[in-house]
Amino acid sequence: MAFGFLKTRFILYFMLLVALGVFLFNSLLTRQSAIMYRYFIEKPSAYNLERAERLSTSIYNSFKKEVLIPSIENIEAFIKKYNDIPFLSVNFIYSDASGNMKSVVGDVKDIDILNAEYVYQIRSGTENIGTLLVYDINKEYKKGLGEYDHILNVTRVSFSFLLIFLLSIFIYREYSVSMEHRKRIAEYQAVHDGLTGMYTNKYFKEHLAQEMKKSRRSGLPLCLLMCDVDHFKRFNDTYGHLAGDVVLQHVARIIAENVRESDIVARYGGEEFAVILLDTGAKKGHDAAKRTTPPFTEESLMIAQRIKKKIETARVRLDSDTEVGVTMSVGLSFYTDETEHTQSSLVHEADQALYQSKNNGRNRITVSYPGKDETVEYV
Ligand code: GH3
Ligand code: MG
Ligand code: MG
Repeated sequence: MAFGFLKTRFILYFMLLVALGVFLFNSLLTRQSAIMYRYFIEKPSAYNLERAERLSTSIYNSFKKEVLIPSIENIEAFIKKYNDIPFLSVNFIYSDASGNMKSVVGDVKDIDILNAEYVYQIRSGTENIGTLLVYDINKEYKKGLGEYDHILNVTRVSFSFLLIFLLSIFIYREYSVSMEHRKRIAEYQAVHDGLTGMYTNKYFKEHLAQEMKKSRRSGLPLCLLMCDVDHFKRFNDTYGHLAGDVVLQHVARIIAENVRESDIVARYGGEEFAVILLDTGAKKGHDAAKRTTPPFTEESLMIAQRIKKKIETARVRLDSDTEVGVTMSVGLSFYTDETEHTQSSLVHEADQALYQSKNNGRNRITVSYPGKDETVEYV
């Protein structure tokens, strides 16, 4: 599935993102929480402009009726009464005897006459007594609400962009990780055998050439092992191909477990494995002519013997009452400066040695010693 990579960490990332979003959203709204509270919780029951206007008119009419003698005490008592209405506030401004502007509620300096919703000139006959101011507190709510809506919209848009941005980063990241993963799998599969997990024949050939070059430069020995499972056709005929596959995996595992990490184990063909042992033993050419077994071959031979022994003694359980085992023949050749080896001559020599192991009864190791036209067999 194309978006399968999303499944794994997606939920976790998404939850983190939502938590972050909620946190941001809340902190951005902190400034507006007071307005929200006032609007939604303390909202006056008579939130209605028309009603405010009507009430304001009725306040004015009441004023005219109730404050027959417009003494400051009477006006104050009136205003006190009408300031109890939850969403209107009433004030009165007038000039005192010395001509100074005064207000009944609060200091006159603080009064915002222009912001009063309803302004009534109060006259007694032709005399101007003062001005009745009626403020609609709802106007403040509406202003706050407008501001709140604006901030809310900006927050919503920013939050959506932030979410899209974070999700894009996340999807891109997941996608590249998944691509990288697939690429690595493809690279691995290109050079590894599907059944045994060992290197492919192609990889082996390329690397044998490289390792021979390195060995020439460093003077360190290189050994090639050719291994072939004995009578494997017969094994397949007896136990079936699937059992044969299990045994091949088992043989590959034993070989890989008994060489160094840096050595190269490849599935050369069907039931045949090639192993390049690197840096085994002493420098090349050391005493080689005088000894039957040059010292640098000893470690390789030891490794080959260990592998052969392990395969010979190991048992593979096929089902509850069938345990099977196989043996393996091995041929060894060495890359030295005693003889001018090419890649194919080195492989050929190991093949010849393997052929000899087969001919002489199988389950044995034959070593083709460098610089000698002879092979030595080890059972
Ligand atoms: P020898 O001792 O001379 O090597 O005898 P052999 O039977 O092992 O050799 P031969 O070359 O005649 O047969 C090799 C057999 O290996 C034949 C083939 O069916 C089997 N084989 C090759 N590849 C696979 C595989 O991937 N799985 C299984 N199960 N068998 C395989
Ligand atoms: Mg075979
Ligand atoms: Mg074979």
